[in-house]
Amino acid sequence: MKNISEITINEQWCKSCEICVSFCPKKVYEMGRFYPIAARPEDCIACKLCEKLCPDFAIIVTAPEKPDLNKK
Ligand code: SF4
Ligand code: SF4
Repeated sequence: MKNISEITINEQWCKSCEICVSFCPKKVYEMGRFYPIAARPEDCIACKLCEKLCPDFAIIVTAPEKPDLNKK
């Protein structure tokens, strides 16, 4: 059973604007050479802000099946 968020970035839709990298409150993303990378998925709180802010609908975040309720 997964207890961290699953983060999928559709590279075909991403235009590398870095909004997700800048606005994720938990700094989950790092910019790779061309596309963002979910470098710290274990820190994701599944707030889905990145999904909402991505202008190209390129991100899908699936919340953990067993969320860690103590995560701040
Ligand atoms: S869902 Fe929230 S915490 Fe998780 S990567 Fe997106 S913006 Fe960051
Ligand atoms: S916000 Fe969307 S389009 Fe912009 S870098 Fe992130 S995934 Fe790519």
